[in-house]
Amino acid sequence: MAEGRSKRASGEAIETVGDRLYSAYANLAMASASVARGIASYDALSYMVRSRLAKGLRTGAMNVGSLFDDTRKMPTDRCVYCAAVPPPALHADHLIPRHRGGPESGDNLVWACRTCNVRKSSRDMLEWYASQEQFPPLAVLRRYLKLALAESRTRGLMDVKVVDEPEVTFSLRLVPVKFPPPSGLRWLP
Ligand SMILES: [Zn+2]
Repeated sequence: MAEGRSKRASGEAIETVGDRLYSAYANLAMASASVARGIASYDALSYMVRSRLAKGLRTGAMNVGSLFDDTRKMPTDRCVYCAAVPPPALHADHLIPRHRGGPESGDNLVWACRTCNVRKSSRDMLEWYASQEQFPPLAVLRRYLKLALAESRTRGLMDVKVVDEPEVTFSLRLVPVKFPPPSGLRWLP
């Protein structure tokens, strides 16, 4: 254990924003594919999906899919956080809050029931799930990671070290690098 910790600590010292986001995105692809296949724990094919994408993203041979597609496929008839179908209306919720500089664009908006909207309040999506000690639905996390990538690329922050704590609108430190097994994950509630 001690060795594992020190390895992580030394890895952190050189980890860039790009490393963190690409690693999270590759893990997300592995988790999504595994959930879609209905397997309870990761297998050789899962790890192959992850390593191919991680390498592809780093070398520039592959890229993340468009945010527009994600936004278009998001449910508009129920809460993305709890799947409630509340009458009479859903509330538009910002994944990255406006007061942190989250964009006003549709890419940053999801539909939430009043209860989730009020509970989440002005918190960032990752902060909210962390406070409940839960892992976010993969579809919501993917939207969030794409927003984080778009911002980091636009602002030239991909090569900045995480330990240097660049000012970003998203919760860089909470971007998950370790994912639970697929049995504990869902694409959407
Ligand atoms: Zn809800």
